[in-house]
Amino acid sequence: MPRPILATIDTEALSHNLHTVADRLRQDAPGATPFIWAVIKARGYGHGLEAALAGFDQADGLAMLDLEEAVRCRELGWTGPLLLLEGFFEPADLDVLVHYHIGAALHCTEQFDMLESSPVARQIDAFVKLNTGMHRLGFQPDEFRAAHVRALALQADGVLGQVGTMTHFARADDDPAVTRDQIDCFLRATDGLSGPVSLCNSAATLTPGLAAGIAGDPQWVRPGICLYGASPFADRPADTFGLRPAMTLSARLIGVHRVPAGESVGYGHTFRAPRDMRVGIVACGYADGYPRHAPSGTPVVVDGVRSRLVGRVSMDMLAVDLDPVPGAAVGAPVVLWGQGGPSVDEVATACGTIGYELLTAVTPRVPRRVL
Ligand SMILES: *Cc1c(COP(=O)(O)O)cnc(C)c1O
Repeated sequence: MPRPILATIDTEALSHNLHTVADRLRQDAPGATPFIWAVIKARGYGHGLEAALAGFDQADGLAMLDLEEAVRCRELGWTGPLLLLEGFFEPADLDVLVHYHIGAALHCTEQFDMLESSPVARQIDAFVKLNTGMHRLGFQPDEFRAAHVRALALQADGVLGQVGTMTHFARADDDPAVTRDQIDCFLRATDGLSGPVSLCNSAATLTPGLAAGIAGDPQWVRPGICLYGASPFADRPADTFGLRPAMTLSARLIGVHRVPAGESVGYGHTFRAPRDMRVGIVACGYADGYPRHAPSGTPVVVDGVRSRLVGRVSMDMLAVDLDPVPGAAVGAPVVLWGQGGPSVDEVATACGTIGYELLTAVTPRVPRRVL
C-alpha cells in the first residue's frame, strides 16, 4: 500500500469558484463585465495544470508564466487566449508564441529589441506593462508612452496583434488608498490609448466596485488564488465570498501512543506534554510540502474533530494531539487542510505565511486524485 497521504483536487470547486467570481463581477458592473484570465501559473497554484484546465474550461482566457505551461494548455485542447505574465525571455521563444498563438506581457525594452529584430514574429497579442508603484515589472510612467509607441509601430508592421495595457497592484489586499493611487497613475499614463486593459488580481477583483470603476476596451481581470478557494485577504476567509477549497491535503494516523506528563515530542523536544496525553503520528511531513515551521497549535482535523499539531514537523511525519479525539486509532483520517479540515489560510496564518505558499509547495511525491 502506498504511504497514506493524498492531495485531492476538486475540479468542480474550481469551476464553482470561477462562476462565483464571474457572478460578483456581473453584479458589480452589469453593463461592462470584465473578461476573466484565470491565472494558472505554478501548475495551477499547485493543483496541476490538467485539473486547472478542466476546472477553468469556461474562463475567457488563461494566464501563466512558463512558455511550456502555455504550450501544454494548447496540447490539452485549450483554444482560447493565453497570456504570459512575464512575457518571453529570449528570441527563440517568439517562434513558439507565434506557432501556438500565445500572448505576452511586454515589460522591458529588451523584449521590444527582440521583437524588432525577429524575422518570424507575427501577430503576437501583447499587453504593455506599466509600473504604477509596485516596482517589480513594467515601464516607469515616464517611459511608458515611448514603449507604447514602439508597440503600435510593431503592430503596424504585423509583428504584434492586439496591443493592450496592464499593471499590477501591490496592496489590493490591505490598502485601498495605495490601489487608488496606482489606478490614478495608470489612468494618467494610459490616457487616450485604446485597446484592452488589465489591472485586477484576486484581491482587487473581489473588492466591490473596484473593477467596475475601471473602463476598458475590454477590461480583463486576473484572479488567481481566489479561484482555488483561498483568500487573498488576511482578515477575510474565502468561504465568506462563497468560495470552496479546491485542494484537500489528507493523510492518516500511522501511529498512536501515550506521552506521559513532562515527556516531550519530536525533534528538538519543542513540545512538552503538560499532562498524560495521547499523540497521533500522521504520514505527512515537510518533504510533502507541509511547512516545517508550523508551530505547535497549528489546526488539523483528526477523524472529523478539530485538534492541533504538537512538536516539530519532521521530513515524513508530524504529531497531533489526540485528547480531543479519544477514539482515534491507527488508520484514522487526518485533514491537514481543505474540505473537512482547517482552511489552507488558517494553517498558513498559524505558520506566518499565506495560502499561496502552502498550495504551491505540495511536493511531487504526494499522490493526487483529481475529482
Ligand atoms: C500571480 C499574479 C496574478 C494573480 O494574483 P492572485 O493574488 O493570485 O489573484 C495576477 N497578475 C499577475 C501579474 C500575477 O503575477
